[in-house]
Amino acid sequence: MMSKLSVFFVGMAMLAIFACSKDNDLNFFTVSQDIAFGEQLDSAVLASPDEYPVLSRTAYPAVYTYLETMMNNILASEEIMYRDEFNWKITVINSDVVNAFAAPGGYLYIYTGLLKYLDNGAQVAGVMGHEIAHTDRRHSTEAMTKEYGFSVLLSIIMGNEATQLEQILSSLALNGTILAFSRKNENEADRYAVFYTADSELYNPLGVGGFFQKMLAEQNTAGTGIPEFLSTHPSDENRIENISATWNELKSNEPALNSVAWNDLVTQHVQIKSTLP
Ligand SMILES: [Zn+2]
Repeated sequence: MMSKLSVFFVGMAMLAIFACSKDNDLNFFTVSQDIAFGEQLDSAVLASPDEYPVLSRTAYPAVYTYLETMMNNILASEEIMYRDEFNWKITVINSDVVNAFAAPGGYLYIYTGLLKYLDNGAQVAGVMGHEIAHTDRRHSTEAMTKEYGFSVLLSIIMGNEATQLEQILSSLALNGTILAFSRKNENEADRYAVFYTADSELYNPLGVGGFFQKMLAEQNTAGTGIPEFLSTHPSDENRIENISATWNELKSNEPALNSVAWNDLVTQHVQIKSTLP
């Protein structure tokens, strides 16, 4: 039986855990556990070149500079909660799969197939902002706790659950995400992607809806080639309307945002695409 003192300490530890979370959602992970779990997943991804062939940083520096600049511009948004705490890092997977995903703790993965699929930098920033939101709002650990249970995830962090980690990784490869997020978290990720891109004043926030619109159009022209991203990110008119509504509301409150232009987002993106293997 637990002594009164240990009950007290467990209680204090729980309080500390909840107090650690900057958002109001209940998440049993601490922020440093998010980071530790992300590190584990990232090294497992890097150790599985068959499933995750990483595009060489030294052979394709321009691609990485393009995406890292974009990531840093998005992370400059005042809406980001864990800019300094998380290990923000982007890895390009050299595969024609049309997908992107994020691990806890700031690890982002984008496929060359998605880069080739998208038309301009605003759409890329839209996807990236969406994935950054899943990580920064800590949706991944919240959802994984529901799916696998806290104790399994905790032992993975401790390095005691190699098999479970592998299982999570293959589901990640299969579904393009660690698991499907709730609709609530999907909407939140869309909304924050609009906030981040608006804050940057570089990437037109309509790009957030732009990539869903493109996917929706593709979905409607029946046939092959429906992007993997769609299986975990159902696109419908509703989703696109919500994104436009968030942007319209922002714009009407802050008139300066009306000048967010497309700049050279198309030219730059097309140029980067032409260098991809
Ligand atoms: Zn999502």
